[in-house]
This record gives sequence, structure tokens and C-alpha cells, in this order.
Amino acid sequence: MNNGAQTCLRIAVSLPVKGSFFYRVPKNLAPRAHVGCRVMVPFRNRKITGYILEKTTQDDEQVLKEISDVLDPEPLFHKQLIPFFEWMADYYIHPIGQVIQSALPGGLNMNPYKTAFLTEKGSNIFDSLPLHSEERKILSWIKDQPEKRIPWPLKKIYGLQKKGWIVVEDRMKRRRAGPLMRKFIRPKKGINLQSIFVENAKLLKAKNEVQFLETVFGFDGTLLSELTAKFTNGSYLVKKWIKRGILENFTRVVFRNPAGKIMFPAPVPVRLYEQQRRALNYIQACIDKKAFSSCLLYGVTGSGKTEVYYQAAEHAIRLGRQVILMVPEIALAVYVEGIFRSRLGNRIAIYHSGLSQGERYDEWMRMVRGEVDMVIGARSALFAPLPRLGLIIVDEEHDSAYKQESSPRYQARDTAVVRAKMEKALVILGSGTPSVQSFQNSITRRYHLLLMPDRVEKRLLPDVEIVDMKTLEDAKYKNEMISPKLKEALEQNLIVGNQTILFLNRRGFHSLYLCRSCGQSIRCPNCDVALTYHLKEDKLTCHYCGFWSKTQMKCSSCGRGDLKAYGFGTEKLEHELEELFPDARITRMDTDITRRKGQAFKILKKFSDHEIDILVGTQMITKGYDFPMVTLVGVIAADLSLGFPDFRAGERTFQILSQVAGRAGRGSQRGRVIIQTFNPDHYAISTATAHDYQLFFEKEKELREQLGYPPFSRLTCLRLDGNNKEKTAEAAHDLSLKIRAILSKWPKRGKEIQVLGPVEAPISRIKGKYRWQILVKSKSASLLQHLLNEIERLSKKLLRSSGVHLILDVDPYQMI
Ligand code: ADP
Ligand code: ZN
Repeated sequence: MNNGAQTCLRIAVSLPVKGSFFYRVPKNLAPRAHVGCRVMVPFRNRKITGYILEKTTQDDEQVLKEISDVLDPEPLFHKQLIPFFEWMADYYIHPIGQVIQSALPGGLNMNPYKTAFLTEKGSNIFDSLPLHSEERKILSWIKDQPEKRIPWPLKKIYGLQKKGWIVVEDRMKRRRAGPLMRKFIRPKKGINLQSIFVENAKLLKAKNEVQFLETVFGFDGTLLSELTAKFTNGSYLVKKWIKRGILENFTRVVFRNPAGKIMFPAPVPVRLYEQQRRALNYIQACIDKKAFSSCLLYGVTGSGKTEVYYQAAEHAIRLGRQVILMVPEIALAVYVEGIFRSRLGNRIAIYHSGLSQGERYDEWMRMVRGEVDMVIGARSALFAPLPRLGLIIVDEEHDSAYKQESSPRYQARDTAVVRAKMEKALVILGSGTPSVQSFQNSITRRYHLLLMPDRVEKRLLPDVEIVDMKTLEDAKYKNEMISPKLKEALEQNLIVGNQTILFLNRRGFHSLYLCRSCGQSIRCPNCDVALTYHLKEDKLTCHYCGFWSKTQMKCSSCGRGDLKAYGFGTEKLEHELEELFPDARITRMDTDITRRKGQAFKILKKFSDHEIDILVGTQMITKGYDFPMVTLVGVIAADLSLGFPDFRAGERTFQILSQVAGRAGRGSQRGRVIIQTFNPDHYAISTATAHDYQLFFEKEKELREQLGYPPFSRLTCLRLDGNNKEKTAEAAHDLSLKIRAILSKWPKRGKEIQVLGPVEAPISRIKGKYRWQILVKSKSASLLQHLLNEIERLSKKLLRSSGVHLILDVDPYQMI
């Protein structure tokens, strides 16, 4: 350090601003200011939260502001994560402070706010103020709620402070999440259970008293709530034996363990199959190298990937490294966690957005403190603060749920590869239907390809049959959702007592309400979509903005309002099944049902315990679960996913059909799959039917190459939305002209980038906002990134005070 240098901090602020900023540290705060801690800093006349990225030095000439506080007693993340956050900020063109903010568990981002209390003068004057005056109203509120956030504009408040009636103070919102304390019961030291049975035999009055004592004596502390749940007379027995000096109670900090009990203890396989052995050998060698490597584990559904993941994780943990396992859905995370916890014990954390803020905070801090070996979770587990990360597994890597569709709009699978690289770790992408992108990466040798082509025990892949719904159209089955063939198969399956999964990728009852007089569909007033009818609530709702209305409404076009319902969703399917098979136990699982916490888990458990015969659901039932008694899978409308205006429509359809078919016949009995479709000849449907990934990939690759779509190019979608129709359109046109102007100034490489549009988005309005989009295509990622930075810069000026907002969606998935 030379003389003219001062120690300072590089800080990312939690505001939409690019880059990081330097601050000085006052002496008293210096010992607490660690990298990874949050700080309070002055920024443009405000005080905001920031994150310490680096301790560094700056020229003494530089006039730097001082941080005003350090908010955390210990760091929230490690140094190793910072280059990763910075990479994300650069690649996805998103402010680094906000990347970090979204990575951290909610509930700790404090916002300072103002409170006030009455002075003596204020108290004295209070009674003399006119009863209904605003001043009296405010003073009265403050008097009653001295620590609360002031709900009025500060202008009004400062006036009262000037008069000397109140004092305004800054407060920090306290963290909602804290440690959780629970009451436990344990036997007192030195007391022997057998001696109680002998000495106090007379006291053992209740029938379950022996069992009760055995339970308590079996552990060094049993949750009181568990005892009262297990024994109806639990609280009585606890009191009784405490009084006798046999038991004692105590309080202990517990971690909120959202998984609760072990639900699906997996049988530990005696030995691996040859294909598992080979994959695992390769994987273990990679882990041993302690260098970055990446592989694509392409194993058909039911080939035993989970066991490979498990043993890979175990190997990494044995070498002192930590593991992240990502799955595409929360329900699946809970399910997989049960399997792993039953074998790896409690050094596992679970992390996903379905946890409460307190749970997320607890799990996060356990990871930071190195108390876990493995984290299982959905997309957000990508950021798990593990200091010794050695392995990342992305299961069902093809799943589009890995793409976050709100900012920061990242692809968790792709970023997992980047993180593994930075941490010198191994990343395994696993799938039964690899994404076109990942498979192409295995061809170009970016990923090492590991193949597991057979199901365990050489079980046969299910027999897939197609029902061409066109041929049923005119027959008497015209409006039925369930074809005669599927109906018969369902009957058969019920008779032999096996389970069935029916898949339909649309929720609700009717998908469309049409006016009989003018033919107009009832549409959402805020969005450019038709409303869906939900029977249970008897409401028409919008799946985009949540708008709803009663069905007794007039047609807004012609005013006559004679409405008829068309189309179907999972709710109607469930209804029809109940009519067809009144004795069957039928349950539906879709987001309408699983919004309530724990509901998905309950259903899966019931299904696993064979308390359900037919499970009806959307995409969420197609993934990953292993239910050996499922021998029949029905796909109600295979075409739904083909209709999307999206270059991945074919890929998605193939994946969904293969995945859902993969749920059938995972036990000892061969599975049967019946696919109902209007497009039996579409390549995505025919190749899925034939279990022919290779052929599907060849066809898809050819199309993508011809059209220059990913993986043969990089894509970014620029979406503009605004409240005003004309202004939004105008901004989109202006922006595209500006982009073309930039490119024309890059004589050498400008031609490598293609600008498509602007066009109105396929759904031209959502939540009242008009939407336009521009697609930018490039063969070179770095060139595209360069352009995006330019666009970001110029759009600030271009869109200022236009009311139009630009969203940069890098590597987009949804372009509707
Ligand atoms: P995938 O994830 O590839 O679809 P799973 O991992 O769910 O397949 O495995 C399918 C079934 O095979 C599971 O019931 C699992 O317990 C079982 N299994 C996996 N490996 C073995 C093995 N080596 N020996 C016996 N059973 C196994
Ligand atoms: Zn809407």
C-alpha cells in the first residue's frame, strides 16, 4: 500500500444502477465490515442497502462517502460467489446489487423507514386541537403507534416536527426471520426406564403409558408437539412424569425443517447396474480431479439416474466437498429430498421459493456456516452459499422451469455450468430427453456424454398407442375428452387395481366462453387472452393477471350476452372421470390445487400410498416421480403445446410426451401409454411415440440450423411494454431503428447480427400493458453482448419519460 492510498470497500447497491461503488469505512465499523455483509450507505441523498464485494484501496485524492452501518454480524455469502454474481450481472444485463438481492433469502433486505413520537409540547397541545382536524388525526395515530412506519407523505410530518410537536426518527425494519425455539421433553439424567417399570408399576395407569415412556426414553429430547400429536393424553402424561421428577422439559433452537419426516425411504440397491457403474466411474474420476468438468447424463426415464446422483454426491461429500442438486419443481425437490435425507441424514438443506422467509433464512445460514453437505432445491438453489462446492447436479436439465421469467431472467441450468467452472467443480446435467442445446453441446464435446439407454432390470419402455382424434370427430364421441380406447384402458386398469396418470396441460374447466349471437369470446379486459371458466369457484378468470368475473355477464361486443362454454381443462377432466367412474378414487393436481402449502406433497404421498387410483394433472405430474403401480398413462390433448408461437414448440412437445410416458410401467409390469392427438403425423409426436430421441433430434436440428435458431445462434428478446398503445408501438419502432443504425456503423461485424421486428407480441396486452418485441439474433455471444450493452445505454435516453419499459430477455424461452 503506498502513502496516498486509503482502505475502502467496493459495494453493490440494491438499486437499478450499473456497476459497483467505492465507500470509506469509519474506524469503529472497520472490524465488522467483511466481504459478504450488508451495509447501509448514503446514495443520491438516500440511505440504501448495499453488499460488500471487496476490501480494496483507492487513491487518497478520491473523495469517498462513508458507509453508515454494517447490517450483518456475519457474512451472508463467500468471496467465491462474487465473480459469479458479476458474471450474471454482465451476461443478463442486470444490476449486480439486484442480482445479489434476488439471490439472498427474502426477509433480510431491510428498508429504513420513518417513525415519530410525540413531544411534551405535542401531548399538551393535543387536546386543544379541533376534533376532526388532520393534525389531530396524525398526532393521535403517532401517539398510539410510536414505532410504526408513518403512512403519510413526509411533507406533512416535517411540518409538525417544525412546530415542535413530534420528533421524527429513522428506523430499520427488523428481520422477520429469527431462530425458532421449541419445547422438548427428555428423561432426567441418571434415570433408568426399567427401574421405573419396576418401582412405579402402580403408577402406570393409562394403557399407553409404557409406550409413552419408551418413546421419551428412546431419545435425548423429543418435541413436545410430537408427543401430543402421537398420544392423545400426551400433555397429561408429560405433566405427570415431570411432577414425579422423571422427565424434564427444556427449550432448544430448532431449524425449521420444511421436509418434516422422511416420507419415501428409498431401498438401497444392492449393486449398481453396468450402465450406472460406468457413468459413476467417469463421474467419480471427474470429482477426484478437482477441476472443472461437465457432462450430460442422458438416461432414459427409469434408467436409475437418481442412484447415480446419490452416489456421486456421496463421493463428493466423502472428499470434503459440497453438492447442489437442482430439480425443476418445488414438489419434486421435496420428494427428492425425502429420498436423500433418508440416506444422507440431516446434513442436507432444502431451498426453494416455496419456503417461508424464516425457513429460507435458516437454511441459508446453515449453508453459509458450513453446516450442510448438500442442498436440494429448485432454481434458486443455484445461489446456495456453499464454501466448498464440488458438484452441481441439474436434474431434468431440459425443463423450461429452469428459466426464470421475472428479472433477473436467468437460465439456472446454463448458469450452473458457469458456476461450476468458477468453483472448479463438476456439473452433471441429467435428462431422459436432453434439451436440443445440451445434446448439441455433447456433440461438440463441450459436455461429455454419458449414456444410460436401458431401464433398470431391462424393463421395457411402455407401449405407446396413438388415438387420432380427427377420426372420432364426427362420431358420437365428438365432444368427449376421453376416447373409447382410453376409457376401456382406464376400466381395465381399475379392475386390476393399478394406478393411472392422466395428463392435460391446461387447467380450469372450460377454456373459452363464446357469445352465441356474435361469436366473440369473453376476454380479459386487461390482457389479450380469453377467460377460463373454473367450476369450483364458478368464475371466469384470467391466467395472466388474475382478473375474474361471474359468468352471468353480457357479451361486451353485442350486448346480448347469450354465452356458451367450449374447450376443456383439468377441472373438467376430473369431473368427467368422476361421472364415468363413480367408484374410483380420483384426484387432481395442478397449480389451482397446489397453491396451498404442503398440498402437492400430500397428494404425492397419497398417490404413493395407493390411496388414489387416477391422478389427473398438468405438467407438474409429468416430472421425475417414481410410482411403480402406475401402468397406464393417458395424454388428453397432445397438441396443446404445439400451438405455441415458439421455435421450441416441437422440442417441448417431444419432452412432455416422453416424460409423461416415462411415468408408466416403472414397476415390474409393462406400462401402456395412450396419446390422443389431432396431429399424429407431426414429427414431435411420432418420434415420441417411437421413443426415438435420435430421430427427433436430427429433425429438430435440421430445422433450427435452417432458421438459424439456438443452439445455432444466440437470441435475445427485447420486450417493450407501456400503458399507452401508440407510445409503445412508437418506442419499439424507434428502438429498432436505433439498433439498426448502430449495426450499420459496425462495417465488419454488424452483418453478423440480425434484427427481427418490431412486432406486436403474440399476446399483445397483459395486465393492461401493451407489448411489442424485437428479436436479436447473433452467431457470436460476445458480439451480441456488446450490442446489448449499447442498447441498454441508449434505451435509457430513448425511453425516458415515455412510460415505456424495456425488458432484455437474454436466451429467451417465452416469446408470447
Ligand atoms: P430415472 O430418474 O432415471 O427416471 P430412477 O432413478 O427413478 O430413474 O430409477 C428407477 C427405479 O429403479 C427406482 O425405483 C430405483 O429405486 C430403481 N433402481 C435404480 N438403480 C437400481 C439398482 N442399481 N438396483 C435396483 N434398483 C435400482
Ligand atoms: Zn388478464
